[in-house]
Formats: sequence, structure tokens, C-alpha cells
Amino acid sequence: MIANPMNMSVELPNQSDYILLIEDNQADAELVRIALDQTRVVLPLRHANRLQNALELMKDQVPEVVLLDLGLPDAAGMEGIDAICRHTTGVPIVVLTGNADDTTAKRAIECGAQDFLVKGDYSPELLARVMVHASERKRAEQQLIRLARHDSLTGLPNRSAFLDLLEHAIARAKRNHESLAVMFIDLDHFKNINDNLGHHAGDHLLRMFAKRLKSTLRTTDVVARLGGDEFTVLVEDLDAVERGETVARKIITSMRAPFRVDETDIYATPSIGIAAFPSGGNDAATLLKRADMAMYRAKSRGRNTFEFYSWDIDAEMRESFKLDCELREALTNDQFELYYQPIIDRKHGRVSAVEALLRWNRRCVDAGNDTVSRLVPPDHFIPALERTGLIREVGEWVLHQSCLAGVRWRQLAGDHLRIAVNVSPQQLTHTGFVDQVRHALHDSGLPASALELEITEQVLLANTEANMAILTALREFGVTIAIDDFGAGYSSLSYLTVFPFDTVKIDRSFVSRLPEHKDSAVVAAGMVAIAQGLGRRVVAEGIETEGQQRFLVEHDCQELQGYRFSRPLPAAGFEDYLRRSRQPTAADAIMIPSKDRLTG
Ligand code: C2E
Ligand code: MG
Ligand code: MG
Repeated sequence: MIANPMNMSVELPNQSDYILLIEDNQADAELVRIALDQTRVVLPLRHANRLQNALELMKDQVPEVVLLDLGLPDAAGMEGIDAICRHTTGVPIVVLTGNADDTTAKRAIECGAQDFLVKGDYSPELLARVMVHASERKRAEQQLIRLARHDSLTGLPNRSAFLDLLEHAIARAKRNHESLAVMFIDLDHFKNINDNLGHHAGDHLLRMFAKRLKSTLRTTDVVARLGGDEFTVLVEDLDAVERGETVARKIITSMRAPFRVDETDIYATPSIGIAAFPSGGNDAATLLKRADMAMYRAKSRGRNTFEFYSWDIDAEMRESFKLDCELREALTNDQFELYYQPIIDRKHGRVSAVEALLRWNRRCVDAGNDTVSRLVPPDHFIPALERTGLIREVGEWVLHQSCLAGVRWRQLAGDHLRIAVNVSPQQLTHTGFVDQVRHALHDSGLPASALELEITEQVLLANTEANMAILTALREFGVTIAIDDFGAGYSSLSYLTVFPFDTVKIDRSFVSRLPEHKDSAVVAAGMVAIAQGLGRRVVAEGIETEGQQRFLVEHDCQELQGYRFSRPLPAAGFEDYLRRSRQPTAADAIMIPSKDRLTG
């Protein structure tokens, strides 16, 4: 610490206790000493008459400030500044020049000096002031560098610092024929924590996560925070692949214990992607990108796990990116189309409902370089729509189209006809969904009671109360709700008593095992009985064989859907189907089961 001329103490960044003068001319050195004696500067002065000697001194202890002569025997001009900066970062340098011209001073500052004095032309006060200002300037500069290199929340290196460190590590690994591993770590469901407990708790969790992560690793491993809930780790080792795996397992194990945030135990599991040098890439940016890709694969494989980068991940990501782009275009280019599959009421032997099923006419270039369109079933693209959030827009389109079509089908089939529309969980939970439904009904003129929304059990697993409110709101204005694919996944008969469903659709996987598979038969019969006992309508989907049909009819299932009656048809085909089904003879021919056929 040196006192400044205004009599205020100033902390200097490097808590060392001397001022270093590098000056080969004894007389000039003496002038500095005399001037310093007349100031309040309390630090001792050390003197070196060669740059080499000065660097030796600095090795042991970094000075508060360096006063540097530009005309040294072993370093002429700017060389001295350069050498000192390279030798020790963060030392303030004040240049002593014999030459009062502007260009030398400017050059010195460009080269990294903080200030300059012209020999024989400074007072003790000026000398002191210049030294203090040089230190302050240097400290501010160091602080800026630190801020630019570190994440302020956790104190870990940030993205740009990590990339630099990685770049250097790669160069080292190349020289020594070693390998290294880059890990990309993302906290699972961090958004939920932030949303539910607030940003303050989120920040607290990130700090604790960072601390635990660091303590899990060796001190030589680099841990950085890229931003948000994304962390990276750099492991340098002879066998980085093997160690990468060990480290990933260790991280996962160490994150099993809860984090205590605001008196609540929070579980924050990581998903980890690993890319190794040289097998997974040759430069920092590529390795980081690929570790990120591998992390995505780890997430899609159920989270709280790790995954190594491999070529198929690259191909998969490319393909999925391409798909996302194409789907975005598909909506604007009218490439989506609805198909319609009838649902048969076995009592009346007539079409009682129709399910709208989405198709994509994907434009492709064929072998002869012609553009053709290929019909893509929904299972191939709905997950992508959900991933990108595009499902909301496409879903709105489906809703409008279905309602319009519903009006038309009712003109042909009669006013008893319902139109069933599939709704994905993401659509339902999106605010504004109820209004979307209202608009679709209003714009088309379809009565609310003719619209049935099919949702899957997934919706019931999460956010139960909010979803319940939405379902209730929908039913309040007359829309009916069906639970789709019942029997697949987590189905619980208790949903039937808790949620306001009108219809239960027994999953195809069940129906397909009928009637031979004993367990399926028992469960299917039970589901029909219970649902109907609760006053719900039951639809069996995926009926393909006469045996399946017979079993379900015998067990009193009300409505039947499946290829046995008709495959999903494009609008024109479905219109034909409805027209023909009104004529009893033709109806028979296209497998509309009459009451006799169904029961007999
Ligand atoms: P889902 O709602 O359970 O629809 C029934 C699926 O079973 C349809 O497949 C239909 O073609 C098929 N299917 C009907 N009868 C039979 C049969 O006898 N045998 C066999 N093997 N299959 C039969 P699709 O059209 O490929 O749709 C698959 C799923 O995609 C649908 O299952 C639904 O969950 C979803 N989906 C379709 N359209 C939409 C939509 O507009 N929005 C949303 N969110 N999902 C949709
Ligand atoms: Mg459905
Ligand atoms: Mg279904």
C-alpha cells in the first residue's frame, strides 16, 4: 500500500511491499530515490540496472509498481515493457523516458505501460500521483479482464475462458500425444425450480451445484459455467475416455443427495454429454458442440445419465434439425392434411363419430430429381412438433379444419355425429387453448357438443390441478373429453373417477391381443364394465379382426374403431364412405357392420 499525494491510502492489487526501479543510469536512479523520499510513499525502493536482474527479482515477489527506463543495455525501447508484461501479468508499469515527445509515450501505453514520466521533468508529487494512478488503472484493467473471463454467480471461468483453456489443452494434448475429455452438463428440470421457487432459489442452487461439482473433481480438472444451468468440465488424462466415464459416474452419484435451498430439499440431477479428443473432434468449438449434442441424447434417454458423442448422434441431430425446418415450412406451404376414420356405434350400426388424424405430405426429391410428396404418419413428426413447440400452431390448424369438416360430415351423416380431435399435452396446457377451441367452434358453426377432444394420460400425470381446471372449463361450454390410448402406459382406473371424462378409448395394443390373450381379455372386459358402470362411453380402437370385434361386442363395448371398418381416409374418400354408408346394401359391402353381423 502506498499513500497518495492527497493523503488517502490506496490498496494496490498485488499486496507486495516494494517499488521496482529498472534504470541503468545511476544519476537518474538517484533522482528517483530523492523524489520518492519527499513523498508519503512508504514502500522501499529496489533497484535493478538490467532487465534480466529485474525479472529475477520479480520471480520472488511481484512489485507494487515498476518504474522502467526505456534505454536499458539489455532491452531497448518497448522491449522492456513487453518482457515484463509477458513475465508477470498485472504489474503496473510507469515508463521513464528521456524524450519528451508524444509518440514514445503513446507507444509505451499501447505496449502495456500505464503511464510515463519524462526524466528531470517531474516533481515528487507528480511521481507519487503517477504511480498511484498507474496501480489503479492496472487494477481496473485486471478487474475487467476477470469479469470478462468469469461467471459472476459462481466465480467459475465462463464460456470464452473455457474455450481458451480448452484450446491450450488441445495443443498440449497434440504435442504429448495425449487425450482429453470435454463434458457438457445440464441440470434436469432446472426451469421448473426457477419457475416454482423463484430466481433467487435458482441462483442459490446453481452456486451449490457448482461447488459440489468442483469438489467432485480433481483440482487439475477445469470446471466452467457457460450460462443458465449449463456447466462444462475439462479432463486431461492419458486415457480421457475411460476417465471421462468414471468422472461422469462420480458426478451423477454426488448429485444424488438433495440441495438445501430456502429450507427445502431440492433434487438436481445432471444430464452429461462427453466428447473426447482426438476421437470426438479436433478443436475446442467442435468438441464443445458435440459434447452438447451428446448431452441432448442423454436427456432424451431419460436424464440423470451420460452419453458419449458418436457419429450417429451427429447424423441424428442433422436429421432432426432438417425435420424441424421442413415442418416449419410445411405449415406455411399447406403440406398438412387431415384424414378421417369412422367410429361405429354397434347398437345402430352407423357411424357415430369420426376421428381426425393428421398427415404430412412431405415434399421430397426422388431419384429422377422430381419433387414428389410422401405421406408421413403422425408418429414420425408429432414428437418433433412437440419438441419445437410448433404443435400449438399446427394443433390450432387441426382444430379449425376438424370443426369445419365436422359441419360437413354432419350434413351427410346426421346430427348425432361427433368429431374427435387429438390434442397433445403441450397444446392443452398452453394458455389460450380454451379460447382457441371457442374460436374454432364459433368460426365453423359446429355445436360444442359435437366436438370431442382426445387427450392422453400423460396430461393427467403432470400439473394435475391446472389441467383439471382446463378440462372443466372445456366441458362447461359443452365440449366432450375422451381419454385416448387407455390401457397403455400408466393408466389407472382412478383417473376415471377423478377427471371429468365422457369417453374412454381402449388402447389398440390391448385390442390387438384379443381374444386369445387371457389377461388382455380379462382387463379389456373389466375396463368396459367399469367405464360403463361410471357412465362413460367406451370406444375400442384398432379393431382389425372379426374375433376382436366379436369379443368386444359380446362384452358390450359401445363403439368400435379400426381397419376392420375403415382405414383413415382423406376428405374425399371419407365423403364417399359416408354417402355409401347411408345405403344399407353398400354399407355392408364396405364393412359397416349391421346389428346382425355385429351380434351374430
Ligand atoms: P390415436 O389417437 O390413438 O389414433 C389412432 C391411431 O391408430 C391412428 O394412427 C390410426 O390410423 C390407427 N389405427 C386405427 N385403426 C387401426 C387398426 O385397426 N390397426 C392399426 N394397426 N392401427 C389403427 P395414426 O393416424 O398414425 O396416428 C397416430 C397417433 O398420432 C394418434 O394416435 C394420435 O395420438 C396422434 N395424432 C394423430 N393426429 C393428431 C393430431 O392432429 N394432433 C395430435 N396431437 N396428435 C395426433
Ligand atoms: Mg386419438
Ligand atoms: Mg388412440
